[in-house]
Amino acid sequence: MTKHELPKAYDFKATESRIYAMWEAGGYFKPHNDPNKPDFDPTVKPFVISIPPPNVTGELHLGHAMFVSVEDLMIRYHRMKGYSALWVPGTDHAGIATQLMVERDLLKTEEITREELGREKFLERTWAWKKKYGGMITNQIRRLGASCDWDRERFTMDEGLSRAVREAFVRLYEKGLIYRGPRLINWSPGLKTAVSDLEVEYSEEDAHLYYFKYMIKPDSGSSTSGNSEAELRESDFIPVSTIRPETILGDTAVAVHPEDERYKKYIGKTAIVPMLGREIPIIADEYVSMEFGTGALKITPGHDPNDYAIAHRHNLPIISMLDKEARVNENGGKYQGLDRFEARKKLWADMKEAGLVIKTEPYRTTIPRSQRGGEIVEPMISEQWFVKIESLANAGLDAVKDGRIKIVPERFEKTYFNWLENIKDWCISRQLWWGHRIPVWYCPDGHMTVAREDPTQCATCGSKDI
Ligand SMILES: [Zn+2]
Repeated sequence: MTKHELPKAYDFKATESRIYAMWEAGGYFKPHNDPNKPDFDPTVKPFVISIPPPNVTGELHLGHAMFVSVEDLMIRYHRMKGYSALWVPGTDHAGIATQLMVERDLLKTEEITREELGREKFLERTWAWKKKYGGMITNQIRRLGASCDWDRERFTMDEGLSRAVREAFVRLYEKGLIYRGPRLINWSPGLKTAVSDLEVEYSEEDAHLYYFKYMIKPDSGSSTSGNSEAELRESDFIPVSTIRPETILGDTAVAVHPEDERYKKYIGKTAIVPMLGREIPIIADEYVSMEFGTGALKITPGHDPNDYAIAHRHNLPIISMLDKEARVNENGGKYQGLDRFEARKKLWADMKEAGLVIKTEPYRTTIPRSQRGGEIVEPMISEQWFVKIESLANAGLDAVKDGRIKIVPERFEKTYFNWLENIKDWCISRQLWWGHRIPVWYCPDGHMTVAREDPTQCATCGSKDI
């Protein structure tokens, strides 16, 4: 007779993986009524959850542990109640995170950039990387005991899912729910590419705050109001400060706080852009802090995210004053062609000569730098693709309001309503190689062809050059 010794402590590691392997091999995670099987009964109501796909680059954290446990509970509960239960697992290609990892790896091991390697080769490398390292998270989900049908595992870049993404894009486009519009992105002038928010590092650095005069256009002719105090004089100005004086060339307004006694009288008047002579409005916005700097703000919507938001509220024009290499473009008058930092010096010197400079002082501030190149990132306007969200959000609101969808716990309804009532159009394009490409083709005349299948000619003019 063989003698068995009982282990001193429960060995969950060996036990759990042994039992999990038995479950998986036994097909216990498969729906009993399977549409791929000949005896499929379409009248049986299934219970299906598609897993919210974790990033393929990811590792399990507490959030995963929670949602996996909750969904496993629901799946197992319904399976035991006799439903044909199916939990479809999968992973997300995680465009930004994955691309960044492969790029870093390339730079470290072979000292080449993604651009040097080229799109096709880079994508090959990324697939290879995914194959090698992408399984971590799914193995961890297995270790949690999740009863997923692993034969049905999907990856968001799979052929089928890619087709679905393209179909969704084309359908939304056909319904008029997709459009192209401007958006402020982080631009790396050295790498000549947009960088995601994740790739920007903010560091505290010594800079300068430049104080200058925004001259106000005098009222023309004599005042008809009879109020001589309201009349603007030749010498009237609003003091403004900035850490990036070159962006003056892209200003489209000067903003003051509506209750600021110093500047109230200028609201609605016209200011003159230094050295360019362009006329811009003086507007009131509560975003302006009366305490910061001079209490007046120059608005450069083409190169600053906060200014961009203000410009939207006030329907201000947006002027780009830099090209892709961060040199002043045609909107910068005689400064065209200068690098952004040369332009800063030259413009400031000219303003000094013109008597528009008040002072400069040392200033500590956060500077956005590219994680990869280390250079200062420039906010720039670029054309991106958006989904019009209002009608979609309304459908989502109605579903909860009329009880078709129930939110548990109920108090989170308020959060949900607040979120969907204030939602902005969704930017769906990225400046990435690792991901689904926007299914839009351009001909030399700039016509757009949006198609489910790769087109051979322009839908508008028939050009084969597409
Ligand atoms: Zn065309």
